[in-house]
Amino acid sequence: MNIPYGKQEITEADTIAVVEALKSDFLTQGPRVKEFEQAFAKYIGAKHAIAVSSGTSALHLCMMSLGFKKGDVGVTSPLTFSASANCMAYLDMDVVFCDIDPTTYLLDIKKLEIQLHNGLKPKVVVPVSYAGYPYPTKELYTLAQKYNFKIVEDSCHAPGAYIKNQDGQIYRSGDCQFTDLAIFSLHPVKHIAAGEGGVVTTNNTELYEKILKLRTHGIFKDESLFPDEPWRYELDDLGYNYRMTDLQCGLGLSQLKRAGDKVITRNQIAKKYTEELSDIKEIDLPEVDENSFHAYHLFVIQTERRLELYEFFKSRGIYTQVHYVPVYKLKFYKDKNIYNDEDYPNTESFYKKCLSIPMYPNITEEELDFVISSLREFFGY
Ligand SMILES: *Cc1c(COP(=O)(O)O)cnc(C)c1O
Repeated sequence: MNIPYGKQEITEADTIAVVEALKSDFLTQGPRVKEFEQAFAKYIGAKHAIAVSSGTSALHLCMMSLGFKKGDVGVTSPLTFSASANCMAYLDMDVVFCDIDPTTYLLDIKKLEIQLHNGLKPKVVVPVSYAGYPYPTKELYTLAQKYNFKIVEDSCHAPGAYIKNQDGQIYRSGDCQFTDLAIFSLHPVKHIAAGEGGVVTTNNTELYEKILKLRTHGIFKDESLFPDEPWRYELDDLGYNYRMTDLQCGLGLSQLKRAGDKVITRNQIAKKYTEELSDIKEIDLPEVDENSFHAYHLFVIQTERRLELYEFFKSRGIYTQVHYVPVYKLKFYKDKNIYNDEDYPNTESFYKKCLSIPMYPNITEEELDFVISSLREFFGY
């Protein structure tokens, strides 16, 4: 057996979609880019979507579009892929980590509020919808208004996740009802695979236009500026080549059609894990608030015997993973000598015990049963 913690599913329809793109007149900026952006915006429930080369470039463009500069403060969760923090480091911003809530594993809004009350003045907060648990951005928005900061949701794990308010209203991860911008990754291990790719979503048309321009070097064309030079383009802001190709968008479009169903499958797998593992006292399973619909990019358990279990699984061809090494422990950040492990007790405790076990929609019944029986056997159940 070879069972990874996550993997993509490529169907015959996906293959056909890519071949069609390949046979068309466009390899880079063709009609599929716009089509994918529109379909993605619709799926997520945001006004605009911008397809870019990766989740990382999506984050970088968000920070650039908000006009941040050296020394501006940005807050994120330490329990994330390093890109959530790197995007601020690219602009020489000061990155502040806020500890996680021990039950949701999300940036702890109460701890953040204390830091704000004590004088922390961030320009931006980057909440991460870790593992697929939708971040309560509505509550964060209340703080954003009071303390005047922007919100960029890192929704890489959570396309399809949503929260139901007390009034029955739904807000979806990345729909930007309560945020300025949100970003997604189209890396194959995430929900929607496009080879490489990313998406920025927003309801703010000004930011949308700015990001479109920065995605392609900062170049734009306005014939009224140079009436006698019809070929003339202008560059007024330093951007990058962060474009996503027509080929990738062809795959993304095909994958997007199944995305909603796949989130439901992920929830069924989570349900099975929960039912079949909840009697094992030696492990903690994720708990989800009844008003939150989880997208389960990851299924993360916690155990004191993590290393042993990791090796045991590996001996059986089950490849689990740890998500994540807290970002403040990584050398680039550690070397700044401004982060102390003791400031993040919940993250520290989680990091000692967490293990992501296999979670992907096309896992077979047999594979899933094997993971469950192996886990039961390991703990002597
Ligand atoms: C994957 C991921 C990213 C980066 O996405 P890429 O497409 O790999 O650049 C950023 N943040 C989080 C939380 C991620 O999981």
